[in-house]
Formats: sequence, C-alpha cells, structure tokens
Amino acid sequence: MGRLLVLVVLVVLAVWLIRRAFRAHTRSTESTEVPKKTEDLVRCANCGVLLPRAEARLAGGALYCTEEHARLGPGPR
Ligand SMILES: [Zn+2]
Repeated sequence: MGRLLVLVVLVVLAVWLIRRAFRAHTRSTESTEVPKKTEDLVRCANCGVLLPRAEARLAGGALYCTEEHARLGPGPR
C-alpha cells in the first residue's frame, strides 16, 4: 500500500513538472514574436520615443511624436 502511494506521488510530480516545462516553453515563444510587431514603429527625431508610424507627424523629412516636437525640430540626439 505504501508503494502505491509513492507511485501516485511520483506520477503527480511528473505531470506537474511536464506542465510547468510546457508553460515555460510557450512563454518563451511568445517573447520571440514581440519584435515582429515593432516593425512599424518609428523614432521621434526630437525626443527619441518610439511610436507607430501611423501616429507620427512628418515635418522637414523627419518623423516626430507630437505637433510640438515637429515644430521644435530635431533634438540633441
Ligand atoms: Zn518627441
């Protein structure tokens, strides 16, 4: 009877470890997919903040995050 109990504990432990390994695997694949979504991001020429290309303002051949930064022009960076 004691042997059966040890066997059940080992099986439960094995299932828990396998599930944990799978969860860690899916989490790592999610993090590798993030850079693909950042392809359309552009950097503000004034403050260097990243923003979607659709939200950027174009002024003097450079992209800016806000109307104010477009008016100020390229920053020190
Ligand atoms: Zn800016």
